[in-house]
Amino acid sequence: MAEETVRELRASFAAGQTRPAEWRAAQLKGLIRMIDEKEAEISAALHEDLAKPHMESFLHEISLTKSSCKFALKGLKNWMKPEKVPAAITTFPSSAQIVPEPLGVVLIISAWNYPFILSIDPVIGAIAAGNAVVLKPSEIAPATSSLLAKLLPEYVDNSCIKVVEGSVPETTALLEQRWDKIFYTGNGTVGRIVMAAAAKHLTPVALELGGKSPVIVDSNVDLHVAAKRIVVGKWGCNNGQACIAPDYIITTKSFAPELVASFKRVLERFYGEDPLESADLSRIVNSKQFKRLTNLIEEKRVADKIVYGGKADEKQLKISPTLLLDVPEDSEIMTGEIFGPLLPIVTVEKIEESFDLINAKPKPLAAYLFTKNRKLQEEFVASVPAGGMLVNDTALHLTNPYMPFGGVGDSGMGCYHGKFGFDCFSHKKGVLIRGFGGEANARYPPYTTEKQKI
Ligand code: NAD
Repeated sequence: MAEETVRELRASFAAGQTRPAEWRAAQLKGLIRMIDEKEAEISAALHEDLAKPHMESFLHEISLTKSSCKFALKGLKNWMKPEKVPAAITTFPSSAQIVPEPLGVVLIISAWNYPFILSIDPVIGAIAAGNAVVLKPSEIAPATSSLLAKLLPEYVDNSCIKVVEGSVPETTALLEQRWDKIFYTGNGTVGRIVMAAAAKHLTPVALELGGKSPVIVDSNVDLHVAAKRIVVGKWGCNNGQACIAPDYIITTKSFAPELVASFKRVLERFYGEDPLESADLSRIVNSKQFKRLTNLIEEKRVADKIVYGGKADEKQLKISPTLLLDVPEDSEIMTGEIFGPLLPIVTVEKIEESFDLINAKPKPLAAYLFTKNRKLQEEFVASVPAGGMLVNDTALHLTNPYMPFGGVGDSGMGCYHGKFGFDCFSHKKGVLIRGFGGEANARYPPYTTEKQKI
């Protein structure tokens, strides 16, 4: 089955179907039409999979994906153009250019937490770059997965773009095939499986992974604005189940009480006195993740540190926004990615100590700092390695299509969004064109001493 799918796509690619700008534009327009016509169905599927509030689905998945399609459609012709570069003296006379070339047949494996945008956004880059594509959505978000499998053939060219649904066996069968690129979004353990499978065929990979994204909060801030932006970046993004969600806060010992009080005020205003009943919070995706998260706060030395929330309802798969203050550094909540509604706050004497704390852990996907202090902002940018960073807000950096989005080190490799998505699925072919003039005899034998003097 997997073999047959790849064979069909290879034939379409070899026939040149995916290369013309017109084909690429038609597919992108198809995706835009699909989003316009099926917005309600997409939102309903996201609600079924995650109880994702409609407003969140609209802002974070539907509208952002549509903007991404439009951006690619607008940029397409320019992106496809060969880029003229200077010719070197060694090749005089000549003209030199870099020609972006589609890679061929690519595999995109996506994750459950943003199951629509994480599937379609890489597909946009792959199509724009002129590739044939297999999309394997996440089985953990089954409603969105089956909707994608139903809708894509209605709106895009099914002989070049296919959806294959399934879990580990189906993905394993796909990974055994030879691809021209594999783009994987998910956790690092499976990322290693993907990379090992790709190595067998020397297939390049992009790995969009996660990590512990820190938020440093200095006391020199507009506290109310900072608290709102952190709360919405954590609980307002799929209830913490987001790859760039704030994973832990670092602040000073003296500022922590004020910060905690501000978080509590904002949380109560956003989600009411009983957040388990709020329709504005996504649920935990399944009982496996629910148990993993509740286990993190069951250990006594961690449970003792809860300063807000900590409630859970297994029937609804809901966990309330939970703040913890000064949990032990070696507890599981501080060593692995949380990926849920729990937010530990770590305190330091001086805010500058935050950098060493962050740098003692693997490189995060995102790093955030809240401060009005310019010098601290500059030090943060210069001394904290991360996939991307944002000062005085959370999560929004991924909405700028002029910036690359991707991880570094343990948080991944490769990047996409905007033209970076096109580049991710293109080979940059260097092309040099010479005439028959400009003969330099020195390069031809016999290599006489006279020629060496030149
Ligand atoms: P997941 O369980 O949906 O898995 C991701 C994909 O891997 C799925 O399509 C799944 O079918 C496939 N898969 C699972 N096990 C496999 C195996 N043994 N062999 C082959 N394929 C397999 O998602 P997840 O991994 O739980 O996602 C959460 C993680 O993803 C978090 O670490 C999060 O930070 C990260 N993430 C990163 C980004 C990003 O853009 N960098 C976005 C979302 C999530």
